[in-house]
Amino acid sequence: MNEQITSFVNSFKSELKVISPGRINFIGEHTDYNNGFVLPTAIDKKITFSFRKASSKTQCTILSTTYQKLFTFAIDEITIREATWENYIVGVIAEIQKVTNGVGAFDCIIDSDLPLGSGVSSSAALECGIAYGVNALFELDMSTLQMIQLSQNAEHNYVGTKCGIMDQYAVMKSKEGTVLLLDCLVNKHTYIDVNFDPYVVLLLNTNVSHNLASSEYNTRREECEFVVQMIQKEDAKVSSLRDITLSKLEEYKSRLSSVHYERAAYVLEENERVLEAVAYLRTGDLKQFGSLMYASHRGLQHQYHVSCPELDFLVDFSETKEEVLGARMMGGGFGGCTINLIHRDMVDTFIKEASKAYKKTFDIDLTSFVTVPSQGTSMYS
Ligand code: ADP
Ligand code: MG
Repeated sequence: MNEQITSFVNSFKSELKVISPGRINFIGEHTDYNNGFVLPTAIDKKITFSFRKASSKTQCTILSTTYQKLFTFAIDEITIREATWENYIVGVIAEIQKVTNGVGAFDCIIDSDLPLGSGVSSSAALECGIAYGVNALFELDMSTLQMIQLSQNAEHNYVGTKCGIMDQYAVMKSKEGTVLLLDCLVNKHTYIDVNFDPYVVLLLNTNVSHNLASSEYNTRREECEFVVQMIQKEDAKVSSLRDITLSKLEEYKSRLSSVHYERAAYVLEENERVLEAVAYLRTGDLKQFGSLMYASHRGLQHQYHVSCPELDFLVDFSETKEEVLGARMMGGGFGGCTINLIHRDMVDTFIKEASKAYKKTFDIDLTSFVTVPSQGTSMYS
């Protein structure tokens, strides 16, 4: 640790502590920005934030122990920063200031046990934890939905990823032992109690993050918007893919490129899969629930084209194992984790076999963890 960091940490008296978790998503990928359905929940890995009001009137100091890096910024003069990670933080503060102008100078220490850039949304955990902490520290009285939306705006305007609302929503609103059925058309959710016993949720981290991820994400968004705009010319009521059925899409098939058609078809089918999956969850049919996870992956792989060889390898591997009911890539794609629903007695054996096969094929170490549906962003107690 350098001296500046050591002295900052040693003199830090925390006024409040916040925890902000990562999230998983069982099904409903790339549907949120198309006003569709998703089925996420928070996990038991998280970022922990210690906040205090700063002694300076305007200068804020932020330390990430993950990066062992510290930076300062002036609360009355927020601009886009060179280091990406700093933009998640200053972006949230700038968005809050637009609404409240009530944030004073503060200091913050950020500690994390979340893998970064692995599809469990450390970015939303970071944004939401900052918003939640600052809201409490300066008694800003923002609603949860406000904090969700301005965290999303921060990612759009300061980081440049045109993300949907799922990550921030799941990070903020999740409750232990449940998943959220979120309708991104109206931003309303239903909690669904889950009991997977004797199955558990296992994440396998490819430990790759192909640099296509961010640019392709925005491209997918544009491709979907293109389809909407085309149909909208003839039907003004259509304002997102949510307003289109599969049979309506068929009518336009000959006029769309095969790429545009596949993208839209994937989204419409995925929305249907989410609702079907929820019905299976409610009746406790985990086998059918799992087979929809596989179907989701194949759509992402072959129609939406956001997977990669490493993710496909792990899903293919899972599919050969009877103890895994379902598996798919999770998050934006091009790397990160697969989510697997696996019999608890087989977890250790499976991880050993999968790691060996993965290492042999890609010469990369697989990492993994079992997780459970957990509470969203909250005060640390
Ligand atoms: P994901 O959200 O799936 O983890 P992203 O690429 O969207 O992947 O977000 C990861 C980025 O979030 C990191 O590259 C970093 O900029 C920021 N970030 C997340 N956690 C931390 C942390 N503990 N300290 C500093 N920056 C972090
Ligand atoms: Mg992210």
